[in-house]
Amino acid sequence: GRKFFVGGNWKCNGTRDSIKKLVEELNKSVTPEEYLDKRKRKHIIPARINKDYCEVVVTPPFVYIPQVVASIKQEYQVAGQNCWINKGGAFTGETSADMLLDVGCKWVILGHSERRSIIGESDAMIATKTAYALSLGLGVMACIGESIHARETGKTNEVCFGQMQAYLNELKDPKQWAKVVVAYEPVWAIGTGKTATPEQAQDVHAAVRGWLSENVNPKVAEDTRIIYGGSANAANCKALAKMPDIDGFLVGGAALKGEDFTVICMAS
Ligand code: 13P
Repeated sequence: GRKFFVGGNWKCNGTRDSIKKLVEELNKSVTPEEYLDKRKRKHIIPARINKDYCEVVVTPPFVYIPQVVASIKQEYQVAGQNCWINKGGAFTGETSADMLLDVGCKWVILGHSERRSIIGESDAMIATKTAYALSLGLGVMACIGESIHARETGKTNEVCFGQMQAYLNELKDPKQWAKVVVAYEPVWAIGTGKTATPEQAQDVHAAVRGWLSENVNPKVAEDTRIIYGGSANAANCKALAKMPDIDGFLVGGAALKGEDFTVICMAS
């Protein structure tokens, strides 16, 4: 089966101090051995943050990445929230995928709706970044998702398939999908408290998996994690995680609270 995957997207939040506290909270979650032992004693939330069971990736703002890499337990992986389209050079203000790797990142989030709509990143630019990051060995959380207008006019699948096609245009070799996690984040659910219902999310996840089967191949469709993002929290994560095509979460607001994030990591 597909290994459960949870990303914490901290967005443009935090200070050295608040991040130190958040990492301390996350570090309280335990190893599998501790989990078995301590659950008997019912002392703590049994956080099964364990690479055999669940991949957990935290995504601090760039400037705090070294602090987090140096202080977080090795059960967690660290990611960037964005990167430049290619290797470095005279690109003021940009951060290359090479630099993310150099400071210990294993993943990068690309195509987030905030970067599409606020910064104006195009499908093509996002796909170029994705191919470059993958070529270095970084994993990519590749985001897709429709606006409220698209949903209300019945265009959800059309929009999501279009965004998937843009990634596919740059990923010519099906093997490249092994390091891609697709994050379905309906724009109307991000930061609004209006979570997609488990059925709404499941419908899109199943449709995207079907699209992968038709347009890449059935094996890639079967193996690719498709995670949900948009007001996921400790209270709603279980019902979402029960759905057959929901393989984890990309969490914004709730990822800034150690205990809530830990609960989401245990949702499957
Ligand atoms: P919220 O969980 O705050 O809605 O954000 C979701 C998101 O954008 C994760 O990338």
